[in-house]
Amino acid sequence: MTALQEAMKINIENLELARSDRLRERLDIAARLRCTEHDQPIFAVSIHGLENGWFDAQWTTCCEKLEHQAVAIVKDRC
Ligand SMILES: [Zn+2]
Repeated sequence: MTALQEAMKINIENLELARSDRLRERLDIAARLRCTEHDQPIFAVSIHGLENGWFDAQWTTCCEKLEHQAVAIVKDRC
């Protein structure tokens, strides 16, 4: 395993959300996830806003399994 790992690309459309420590913390955790099946990290995430206390996130991952893990981290109620 190499020490060099491509960072997860993060796109946040709402400036206020970009400043949210809570969101940053969760994205940090998600960025460390790795698919057990494909040995891939999450490629990218877009945060579109906050809906009823939930972050509206769109993930780019190798498979649904990894996406579900990411969603579980970020979609925790705020
Ligand atoms: Zn996978």
